Amino acid sequence: MSDTQQRLLGFPANAAPQVDDELAAPLLNMLLNNIGDPRTPDPYGMGSKDFEQEVVELLAWLAGAHPDDTYGYLAPSSSYGIGHGLKLGRDRLPHAPVYYSSAAHYAVPRQIDLLRMDAVQVPALPDGRMDTIALERACKARPGRGAVVLATIGTTMTGAIDPLPEIRRAASPAGPMHLHADGALGGLVAALAPPSERHPWAFDGGADSVTVSGHKFLGCPIPCAILLARKELVRPAQQGQYVGRHQDGTLACSRSGLAALLLWRTLARLGLGGMEKQVLSCLEVADYAQQRLTELGLHAWRHPGSITVVLDPPPPEVRARFSIPVEDGIAHIIAVPHVTPDLVDEFCDAQQTAKAQGSPLS
Ligand SMILES: *Cc1c(COP(=O)(O)O)cnc(C)c1O
Repeated sequence: MSDTQQRLLGFPANAAPQVDDELAAPLLNMLLNNIGDPRTPDPYGMGSKDFEQEVVELLAWLAGAHPDDTYGYLAPSSSYGIGHGLKLGRDRLPHAPVYYSSAAHYAVPRQIDLLRMDAVQVPALPDGRMDTIALERACKARPGRGAVVLATIGTTMTGAIDPLPEIRRAASPAGPMHLHADGALGGLVAALAPPSERHPWAFDGGADSVTVSGHKFLGCPIPCAILLARKELVRPAQQGQYVGRHQDGTLACSRSGLAALLLWRTLARLGLGGMEKQVLSCLEVADYAQQRLTELGLHAWRHPGSITVVLDPPPPEVRARFSIPVEDGIAHIIAVPHVTPDLVDEFCDAQQTAKAQGSPLS
């Protein structure tokens, strides 16, 4: 695994978390369980809810909302958080279908299925963004039912950002709407890129609920995600008596207190300035990769402000060595924080060697 970690180039997560061993080791001998709502006391005094709340507050700011108006918690994964976001939409609009693009993550249709909501897949444009003209047409065909729309902020293959304000306009023929922004990997990049490359990606773009993964850009070594929603949309249910009969707005019972602590630690170590620097450096590495591949005569492109560089599929041996995925005839490398210019060079050299040896291109 440590060998693989050095060469992960197409995987959408920061695989070098930089956790401080001395800090983390004793925590592995404790059960840190954030049971129930983040704002209620830890029933056994063995949780990290204060830290979790600070993570949620920071993410609310970055998503363009005031923490006082925002509900949030640390969910076990983005899929889970997306399920909760869609459920908030269903609670508001029980007859509305879910509109999502063909470039959305494969976790999305599964969550729609679990919720037994109607699914309407909207085609994506060739560059991966949702086709908002097709969305408008689909909404006009189902007037008055309302719309729950799942927008992706950084699609899996091309890193495309679905245009939130444009989606709000296009879905208006359906009637009232709930907009969920899936910013698993791309949310923080959109929030923290230099101003000219920033995008409205969350509440700032009209979203009602938002998810961001903790183990992707931020590199938490435990899979997790932050779910945020406009506070008035969350209707808490009552917890069991033995954990204190508090109101609980989450869908979980046990949640990882260790993930919350390690995520807090990462954010505290970097600070907002450090996170901005990290995003800038990733964008520079992505730009470098695009340039180097172009110099080699390969077709490489990326969306403005994206760390995903789309390319033609490299030969199988190169793909295997650098963990590069291929889907629908395209491949990508993703300049997450552990990706260095040296790793990009290594990849380019491997590409050149394969080409010289006349390896078939896919
Ligand atoms: C990774 C990803 C997901 C799924 O996240 P999990 O935490 O693996 O459940 C959903 N949407 C997007 C855009 C992703 O990149």
